[in-house]
Amino acid sequence: MLEKRDFYINGAWVAPQAGTDFDVIDPSTEEACAVISLAGEADTLAAIAAAKAAFPAWAQTPVAERLKLAERIMEVYAARAEDMAQTISLEMGAPIEMARVQQAPTGAGHIKAFIEATRNFNFDHALRDNAPDTRILYEPIGVCGLITPWNWPMNQVVLKVMPALLSGCTMILKPSEIAPLSSHLFAEIMAEAGTPAGVFNLVNGDGPGVGTTLSGHPDVDMISFTGSTRAGIAISKNAADTLKRVSLELGGKGANIVFADAGEQAVQQGVMRCMNNTGQSCNAPTRMLVERSRYDQAVEQAAEFANSLSVNSSHESGKHIGPVVSEAQFDKIQGLIQVGIDEGARLVAGGLGRPDGLNRGFFVRPTVFADTNNQMRICREEIFGPVLSMMPFDSEEEAIAIANDTPYGLTNYVQSQDMDKCRRVARQLRTGMVDMNGKARAAGSPFGGMKASGNGREGGPWGLEEFMEVKAVGGWE
Ligand code: NAD
Repeated sequence: MLEKRDFYINGAWVAPQAGTDFDVIDPSTEEACAVISLAGEADTLAAIAAAKAAFPAWAQTPVAERLKLAERIMEVYAARAEDMAQTISLEMGAPIEMARVQQAPTGAGHIKAFIEATRNFNFDHALRDNAPDTRILYEPIGVCGLITPWNWPMNQVVLKVMPALLSGCTMILKPSEIAPLSSHLFAEIMAEAGTPAGVFNLVNGDGPGVGTTLSGHPDVDMISFTGSTRAGIAISKNAADTLKRVSLELGGKGANIVFADAGEQAVQQGVMRCMNNTGQSCNAPTRMLVERSRYDQAVEQAAEFANSLSVNSSHESGKHIGPVVSEAQFDKIQGLIQVGIDEGARLVAGGLGRPDGLNRGFFVRPTVFADTNNQMRICREEIFGPVLSMMPFDSEEEAIAIANDTPYGLTNYVQSQDMDKCRRVARQLRTGMVDMNGKARAAGSPFGGMKASGNGREGGPWGLEEFMEVKAVGGWE
């Protein structure tokens, strides 16, 4: 079993002062694969003090110097790509091939995109041509607490660490205690790349412990959080007394509006997008709204596709989907599948229990419910597993109304060959992102939501701005 109890504080790996052992569970086997330490307050305070002490010097470094460090991080990350894929696969159950082509590369992609965004960012400029003596300066906000979830571990970590670093902030990363091993490796990468002591610190711990100390501490100027809406609310409340900036990337319940004239692959692609990463993506399209004339066919296609998906261990190569991350998530998902059955939704694929032949590991059957409606709990709550809810609609207006009738507002999806209709609908959807016809947003696009999906934007210049203060200086002759 791997022993990863140490924290990375002030440029050195240090033993916990007040830690508690915590097992990391391999979701494919339900066995402990590593032990970490959940930090006590003394450890968190040491990390905050290190970040605070490092801030003045790091904030003054020229952007070119920060970019050089970022390029070095990119090189070391690339050299450790296979380790990263293996680590993510082990800790959160992504099948190894998926971890190699999706999970680990998201980190590399974001490092590259933030280098590009920083090169193009104007940190220091005149307000306007006709107001040259008013200067606008972008300055780092200070010490940042970065709190991340387990589902796309490096994606989330890099989306926070790189803009914080490149804008001149210092930081304490607290990754999810459920998937902390990839962040441990990332700290090794930061160290090998030559990050100055105290600029980047890693402390493991849970929400009530390290998370709460970070969000309430007066020397932490900002919390950048990705995770559940529940924790986002708790953090916001605890941060209020110190008036720190809180940037939130929270849950979602995305709608996928499939019009009758959508491309042939639209339904299959929609099911795949929902089930990818075993349904554990905040931006998963978990409600499929299908125009009535195509609905029955779509239900059949979705059921057939879900039934064709294989589920297997993360350690096996192949294009299957893996387990969900933990027993708690497994139980929650099973509970919500039961709720769907009890609410009268029509189960057309999957259902309760593990797939045949898998008796151990947190494996869930790819599940499709038809004839759902937006009042059902399975259509309102984030299930965070491979569970799709389908419902028919009759008009464009009705589809938009159903899509928007949710507390969440992260990503919606539109499928139609009529681009005027697509654009019209996209403008009316109350989400931070809309994906149309299976096409991805380009690297460096802002990622974030509205309403209960949070208020932050990660990626590109928006992701950098999150970590900066804007200073206006008059009399700049
Ligand atoms: P979680 O909220 O339980 O935990 C996320 C992180 O917050 C962990 O590091 C955890 O230790 C910490 N935490 C928990 N309670 C805390 C508290 N009171 N104070 C401070 N820190 C606390 O979420 P999770 O189960 O790890 O992740 C799944 C959730 O994350 C889902 O709801 C998903 O939609 C969301 N998510 C959102 C995005 C996005 O960008 N919008 C991306 C990925 C995941």
